[in-house]
Amino acid sequence: MRTNALLNPMKSVACPRCQKPVVWGPESKFRPFCSERCKLMDLGAWANEEYRIANATPPDGESDPALDAFRQQ
Ligand SMILES: [Zn+2]
Repeated sequence: MRTNALLNPMKSVACPRCQKPVVWGPESKFRPFCSERCKLMDLGAWANEEYRIANATPPDGESDPALDAFRQQ
C-alpha cells in the first residue's frame, strides 16, 4: 500500500516519555504517548509531583524512613 501512504502521509510525533515515534491518528489511542504504559507513567510522575507539593514535604533524603531502615540493617 505504498501509493496509499503517499496519498495519505502519516503524521507522527515522538512519545514524550520514551521518544518512540507515534502515529498521530485514531489508531493511536494513547497519543501523544506510544502506549498506555507511557501515558500512565507520565501521569504518575505528575501525580507524584503534585502530591509532594501538596504535602510540602522537603526533598530531604536523610529523613526517608525507607533509607533509615536500610541503614539500621
Ligand atoms: Zn513511549
